[in-house]
Amino acid sequence: MPSARGIIAAVVASILPLSLALIDVSHAVPARKIARARPKPVPEKCEPAKFRILLDVGHTAEALGADSARNDPEFAFNLRLAKLIAARLKSEGFATTRLLVTEGKARPSLFKRVNAANNWRADLFLSIHHDAVPDNLLEEWEFEGAKSHFSDRFSGHSLFVSRQNPRFGISLAFARLLGSALKAQGLTYAHQYTLPLMGRYRHELLDKDVGVYRYDQLVVLSRTRSAAVLLEAGSIINRDEEMAMNSPERQEMVAGAVAAAMTGFCEKH
Ligand SMILES: [Zn+2]
Repeated sequence: MPSARGIIAAVVASILPLSLALIDVSHAVPARKIARARPKPVPEKCEPAKFRILLDVGHTAEALGADSARNDPEFAFNLRLAKLIAARLKSEGFATTRLLVTEGKARPSLFKRVNAANNWRADLFLSIHHDAVPDNLLEEWEFEGAKSHFSDRFSGHSLFVSRQNPRFGISLAFARLLGSALKAQGLTYAHQYTLPLMGRYRHELLDKDVGVYRYDQLVVLSRTRSAAVLLEAGSIINRDEEMAMNSPERQEMVAGAVAAAMTGFCEKH
């Protein structure tokens, strides 16, 4: 495994110049105006100990998200991984990291998350999920005597950002850093979101090198005032990848990638 320092250096070197260019373009304000009335950038200056990271555990104990190939709920995967990421971020100096566990039904829980992020004045909202496939792609099998569903057709993580988020440029910059850090761990992103068979789950690929997709309407990405990114950490409907996502090794790789991306981000912002 490459060293954390090596990953950070590689990620920062490869990604930041382009990311910053994208941020400039998206703001599209003449330089003269910026000099006179510069909009308050968020964050002003990233100090790891003060940078307010809200780690959102996708879904709730009442609305569990997707079922895995072995009938375990997505919420449990999200909770376990988000806790590990939070611990890793804190141990690497991001002391103002908070885990957000939300209760209640699915749709209202989305607005609770947005309110939590906005009221807390988060600098970065990162939502942790695990992926499945549309129902029409599911195949049947039996696991421990129970009728179960799977699809081994697709695998990999993916990242989503919304152009409706007021910090879209910052969100995209962080998503690309995280995608690069995951790639540096040897992980491959999920390519299927551009395919017609994904139907209403089809998305524009904003970064084909590291797997950042555009998902404008997603409530937690579009309504948060902070930068916001959603990570599908891996597919739990894929039978092999479900086992990988259950392994401490893979969980550590993902947590390490988030910490590396965050460190790289903070060095440049
Ligand atoms: Zn989910």
